[in-house]
Amino acid sequence: MKYIGAHVSVAGGVASAPENAHQIGAKAFALFTGNASRWATKPIPEKQIELFRRRCSDYGYTPDLILTHDNFLINLGSPDEEKLAKSRQSFLDEMRRCEQLGLTLLNFHPGSHLREISEEECLDRIAESLNMTLEQTEGVTAVIESTAGQGSNLGNRFEHIAHIIDKVEDKSRIGVCVDTCHSYSAGYDLRSPEGYEATWREFDEIIGLKYLRGMHINDDKRECGSRIDRHELIGRGTLGAEFFRRLVNDPRFDNIPLILETPDESMWAEEIAWLYSMIGKVSVGDDDLPGA
Ligand SMILES: [Zn+2]
Ligand SMILES: [Zn+2]
Repeated sequence: MKYIGAHVSVAGGVASAPENAHQIGAKAFALFTGNASRWATKPIPEKQIELFRRRCSDYGYTPDLILTHDNFLINLGSPDEEKLAKSRQSFLDEMRRCEQLGLTLLNFHPGSHLREISEEECLDRIAESLNMTLEQTEGVTAVIESTAGQGSNLGNRFEHIAHIIDKVEDKSRIGVCVDTCHSYSAGYDLRSPEGYEATWREFDEIIGLKYLRGMHINDDKRECGSRIDRHELIGRGTLGAEFFRRLVNDPRFDNIPLILETPDESMWAEEIAWLYSMIGKVSVGDDDLPGA
């Protein structure tokens, strides 16, 4: 079974997320539990927590279908000691909010070496940050997102992700989220049928498919290997509609949250409906696109 959804708004409080997801026909969703561009976030009011939990259970959103995203300031591999300490504290707060909400998946971008330390040192720092956080929390899995490798961001190579996992002590609480736009921009040719198979084979050999906890399903404005992170509407980008048809018919991606982060949220309901309509289809018509 496929669980397709989107990264929905929490304007008005976290409890609005399951409501917003339900409105667009999502069977999974992603959210920020705090302010995405601030270090500190006010505690979530008890009433919001209750309402969030009740709505999730009413609409059938179990914790394995909800992918929490951490804030954008966190760099768990920062070369700067002060920023690293701040990032670790903020990531711990993110995990604690997941615990409060009964959420089990916390998605994060691995980190950036800012050209001040080596890739390896940065990856080791990230793993150390994860070990510190996992030790102080319970029941929440840290989910490493694949990146486009823009600037000095790590996570564009599957080897980076494998390096981190290798150094994390509790392997039961580490996972991976592949962002299709990011990995295509990073140079994994997901578009061609051969490239698609080769990419997932490589993922399985280097990381292991058992670590895959979710995906961000975005089309890409840029070319394969551009290393630039620009999401595009489903079927309108360089990955194209056929790639998404193939993806939703691939049983390897059953039972995990498949999350849209495409640029026009007014399109999400149509994109979700279109993706579901592709299940069982063997090809996509030339002008068969969401909203067309
Ligand atoms: Zn993403
Ligand atoms: Zn992105």
